Amino acid sequence: MKQTLEMLVELQRLEDELRDLRTAKAELEALERDNAEALEGFDAMLAEQAARIDETKAFCEEKEAEIKETEEANRRSRTRLSGITNQRELNALNKELETQRRLTQQRNEELLKLMEQLEAAQADYAKRKAERDELAEQMKALEAELAGRVEEKAALADQYTARRQELRGKLDRGLVSRFDRISKGRDGIAVADVVDGTCTGCRMQVPPQVFIRLQRMESLEQCQSCVRMLVWFAGVDGATAETSAGPADASAAEAAAE
Ligand SMILES: [Zn+2]
Repeated sequence: MKQTLEMLVELQRLEDELRDLRTAKAELEALERDNAEALEGFDAMLAEQAARIDETKAFCEEKEAEIKETEEANRRSRTRLSGITNQRELNALNKELETQRRLTQQRNEELLKLMEQLEAAQADYAKRKAERDELAEQMKALEAELAGRVEEKAALADQYTARRQELRGKLDRGLVSRFDRISKGRDGIAVADVVDGTCTGCRMQVPPQVFIRLQRMESLEQCQSCVRMLVWFAGVDGATAETSAGPADASAAEAAAE
């Protein structure tokens, strides 16, 4: 019987490992997908910002060209100054020069405003780009960590699968189908450990007499609450009833008192 219990526990532990691998793989895929999506969103936002910066740059260039144009007109106007022959012409030219002066001033102010906008937008872009790159780094590190765990587990998967088949061949066929049935209905856990008199599968207290029987490792018990097979894993790992005296364990307490 003890050998059967040992094989059941080993089988359960293999199932746990293989399930962990599947879970870790799925987690990694989900993480990679979520990260890629988040970065895509970030990049789309940055691209929008970059487009606005380009637009502002184009406005600045336009404004500079306009200023040049006004300055050019101003220069031409001034050359006419020497050819002035009367007050009326002088007044008209002065008015023209004054208009050009105002226009130049106005356009220069507009240009200044645009350049301030551009500078602020570029600073904001640089800040967000740095945030994006930092986020990408953090994501990569997390992915690499999880991928490493997956790889570690995957390296052992073949070995685990082979050993699982071996154990299933050794165990009684009825017991194997019972294992599979419970495993299917109970989140892949058919064999539950009992710690401190409690079923680790469902956290329910196991009757003291059942726990005592479990510690003798002479029978296969079943949890009355979750129907999982109960085995005292510590016993499989080499502990004896005396060394594991729990508060709910009357016989072990007696043994310790002797
Ligand atoms: Zn249970």
